[in-house]
Amino acid sequence: MSSNHSLCPDSESVKRLVLEAGAVAVGIADADRLPERETEEYARWIADGCNGAMEYLDRYEEVRSDPRMLLEGARSIVVAAFPYAGSVEMPTKGGLRWARYALGDDYHEVLRRRLEEVAGKMEGDTRVCVDTAPLRERLWAVKAGVGFIGLNNQLIVPRVGSYVLLAEIVTTIHLTPDNPSTGTCIHCGRCLYACPGEALKAMPDGRVRLDARRCLSYLTIERRNDEVINLPKNRIYGCDTCQSVCPHNFEAPLPLPLHEFEPREEILSLTRKDLLSMTQEEFSKIFRHSAIKRVKLSGLKRNASGLEG
Ligand code: SF4
Ligand code: SF4
Repeated sequence: MSSNHSLCPDSESVKRLVLEAGAVAVGIADADRLPERETEEYARWIADGCNGAMEYLDRYEEVRSDPRMLLEGARSIVVAAFPYAGSVEMPTKGGLRWARYALGDDYHEVLRRRLEEVAGKMEGDTRVCVDTAPLRERLWAVKAGVGFIGLNNQLIVPRVGSYVLLAEIVTTIHLTPDNPSTGTCIHCGRCLYACPGEALKAMPDGRVRLDARRCLSYLTIERRNDEVINLPKNRIYGCDTCQSVCPHNFEAPLPLPLHEFEPREEILSLTRKDLLSMTQEEFSKIFRHSAIKRVKLSGLKRNASGLEG
């Protein structure tokens, strides 16, 4: 959180700074309470256990529903989308498949650094959020006109695709809001058919619900038990299938990723055998400033044990 009195009072100047900081899309929304239908749907999702063991998603419900509780006097939210993959092809040398966002530097650190710099040039109080705050980032991205949510539950930026990471600046200054996105994906259904865990379920109201308990991103990253489960097609950490099959990622050349997100050779070249024999010292060195360290060495070894030998 910062407080300063300098340069940037108007929406266009703030958006220009965010784009100069590397975002491919940016928009602004008024920091209001979310509509009841969104909070009720979220409560049903939690009540049905779809968050698995991610108990933190069941905390701070009031804050999650009203971003003004994240920052006293908050009036606007600036939502930015940053690119992290230049193609849908999965680069791999060691035969393992890693979620694309995780192959470079930890996005929490990278995006916070970039947006803190912008926030430092804004008037009023600000709070930069990168994934960890109880903020419904994708809904705010829609409200800010940055993109729409596809049936794959991913935020899709028109003509850019879904290989983007979101970050926000909540601010006490009032900035002119953008029109919310009214777009939708083309509803081709490919993500539902291709999902290896059958984690995407069509609901009677036309929405598609993600059941984290069946999602390989959850099972390989967020799950906190030692049970070895079969992980199809060498997915060692995360899963990008519902993005890699989506036509919105083929519409136009994907934007170049931020240089910090370029895949690290030392991660790409790891094999299953390397992981099974890896020491804590090697793990700490290879995954320094990487989002993958979240799963710890024990989690990577558990996942490696579940891969086809
Ligand atoms: S990340 Fe993979 S497992 Fe999870 S919903 Fe998408 S395709 Fe299914
Ligand atoms: S794969 Fe098809 S149904 Fe799924 S999000 Fe993309 S356009 Fe929508």
